[in-house]
Amino acid sequence: MEKTIEKLKNFDGSILIFTHENPDGDGIGSMLALYKFLKKKNKDVEMAMKDEVPYIYNFLKNIDKIKKLPIDKTYDLAILVDAAGVFRAGAEVKAKEFMRIDHHRNGERYGEWDYIDISAPSTTTLVTKLLRKWDEELIDKDIAESLYVGLLTDTGSFRHSNITPEIFDLAKFLVEKGANPSYISQQVFERNKPETLKLLNKVLSTLQLHNNGKVASLIVKKDFFDETGTKEEDTEGFVNYARGLDGVDVAFIMIQKPNNPDTWRVSLRSKGDFNVEKVAKELGGGGHKNASGCRIKGEEKEVKEKILNVITKNLNINSCSTN
Ligand code: 5GP
Ligand code: MN
Repeated sequence: MEKTIEKLKNFDGSILIFTHENPDGDGIGSMLALYKFLKKKNKDVEMAMKDEVPYIYNFLKNIDKIKKLPIDKTYDLAILVDAAGVFRAGAEVKAKEFMRIDHHRNGERYGEWDYIDISAPSTTTLVTKLLRKWDEELIDKDIAESLYVGLLTDTGSFRHSNITPEIFDLAKFLVEKGANPSYISQQVFERNKPETLKLLNKVLSTLQLHNNGKVASLIVKKDFFDETGTKEEDTEGFVNYARGLDGVDVAFIMIQKPNNPDTWRVSLRSKGDFNVEKVAKELGGGGHKNASGCRIKGEEKEVKEKILNVITKNLNINSCSTN
């Protein structure tokens, strides 16, 4: 972390902060917090990502300043937040140097100034620590709110297994700096549109249980979006309905890309010891032990079989090793 601060402190070229495609609260929160802080330090800094901001984050300050990738400019430094590598941006990013601030395992490395800690439950945890160490006084309400959003969303509202007392200390710090937990929760989780519930209704009707009820699957067909007037971002959190079933250890949702129906975006979730990162990796993606993802090309049936085969293999390995 010291090397990250040193690098940024002494840097006076152009900086781009960017995050992964299909951005989430952690990527966006990290980006916004770092942006405002670096602005306060008089740095020449911009933010960008490939996709639009999901509307649940539109209450955050400076959200309108996020540009769209690709950008036809070569930055002196590009800082990737909350992603294992530049490839996760989903679009070209041009820069003379790169830096990565992140909590994903086995990612790309760009220099001694990278700040990577895979034990951190969110990238905003790392950004909070970084900014606190650098200049705590500069952390204002806007920065605290952005950081809190990432902490809240990436920990599943403080429910995941990697929550430690330190995380509540960081949350306390952010609340003291002006983040309002009740307001932020309402903004992020309680502004659903009726259309989203119509979409959920269709998606829940695809629920299937496999492997004696240990695995649950959901499917979002591209037509569902047209039929309900919704977008891909409206599927956020749907997979948790499948994971939340009693007896289910692994759940996945397959989302057909609206502009690219040959491709399925897959989100994998697990409870306890089952490692979905291993499954995602075998399928060409990555992520964390209990939340991972990948993209697979093909027909619905064949893609589903492929995922189920890898899950089944890993379930068998798990049960062999514990017996
Ligand atoms: P989600 O299911 O919410 O899209 O993603 C869950 C986790 O898996 C995130 O940490 C995300 O970075 C990771 N992930 C999702 N899709 C991909 C992918 O296509 N490739 C890689 N390497 N990681 C992914
Ligand atoms: Mn994250």
